[in-house]
Amino acid sequence: MSDSIVVRKTYKYRLYRCDKKDRKLRHQLFVASTVWNHFIALQRRYYRLTGKYIALQAMNRHILKLRKTKQFALWRDLHSQVCQDVCRRVDDAYQRFFKGLTKGRPKFRKANKYRSYTFPQSGYKVAGATVTIDGVKYKFVKHSEIGGQIKTLTIKRDSVGRLWLVFSVVEELQIEQASTGKSGGFDFGLKSFLTDDEGRSYSHPQFFAQSIRKTKRLHRQWSRKVEGSQRQKRAQRAVAMHSSEVANKRRDFHFKLAHQLCAEYRVLYFEDLNLQGMKALWGRKVSDLGFANFLSILEWVAFKRGKQVIKIDRFAPTTKVCSGCGQIHDLSLRDRTLVCACGLTINRDHNAAINIKRSGASLRYQSERKTKVRLRSRVDGRSPRL
Ligand SMILES: [Zn+2]
Repeated sequence: MSDSIVVRKTYKYRLYRCDKKDRKLRHQLFVASTVWNHFIALQRRYYRLTGKYIALQAMNRHILKLRKTKQFALWRDLHSQVCQDVCRRVDDAYQRFFKGLTKGRPKFRKANKYRSYTFPQSGYKVAGATVTIDGVKYKFVKHSEIGGQIKTLTIKRDSVGRLWLVFSVVEELQIEQASTGKSGGFDFGLKSFLTDDEGRSYSHPQFFAQSIRKTKRLHRQWSRKVEGSQRQKRAQRAVAMHSSEVANKRRDFHFKLAHQLCAEYRVLYFEDLNLQGMKALWGRKVSDLGFANFLSILEWVAFKRGKQVIKIDRFAPTTKVCSGCGQIHDLSLRDRTLVCACGLTINRDHNAAINIKRSGASLRYQSERKTKVRLRSRVDGRSPRL
């Protein structure tokens, strides 16, 4: 049995390098950054004078007017819809700020730190493995067919300076309806990436420790170079290149693990991540491991394969409770095993995974309906960020 569901999916392709043509795209990126900075300045000035915020629609009207003036002729190098999309980004950033989701107000951005701009509807044409923008044809590495209707195109420059095309596509997917399969609890850890409730652990592949050493070495070399020199630039590029390689490998590992787990389990219980708390406890390393990235990839894969990922309340006690008798122990971070008076001696992560599975299962049982509603809201599925 299978269901068809409409999802928003991302396809990312590398542009073939062509310095002459690339210059045009890089110029447009620069123009987009000037639009961003202009509107950030405008919002700040307006707020200082009136205490108010300029709504998106007003920004949109304003930019169309400015584009016609001689002073802002530069902005005509950018498609009008792309200009308005920069306004949308400014508005998004401010809305997040108003909701208290960001640390401070939206900031000015240096042109070389401004990474992408988006065509919301038109302004480009795709045929085969070429995309036409402003009458110029660009070839890209088409490693897979786009399976649906293209909604937006984003031009992106990564930290190494390579250019990418990112298509956002509306696509119909066939979802398998899995009715059988077991359920499992999983705990993230520092020693091994994941541990399940049967005590099996899923570790990072070997490359990981090696790559951390190499990262450190490259950073050291970079920091020794003379400020502003050609060698410093080269060293910085090497750092960016390496971290992009590591990110690719890590994502590959996450996808493979997600598929492996979804093949075996129908329901997967995880603890809701508390990244700030984990960072305080474990240090910076947490963000290197990418638990959050893995969870979003797993949710996507599970969604596509008709499986369920359920996150339990992060305040439920999982680590410190004995899974055999329920007694609460005082474990420090160093204690790798839990030894209980009831006779149970168990690996710390294994114990946590059992507790996660148990509280997840009872949660699911108590509020079967509520869970379903929550799961349905995931159904406007989006593929993870690339
Ligand atoms: Zn016990």
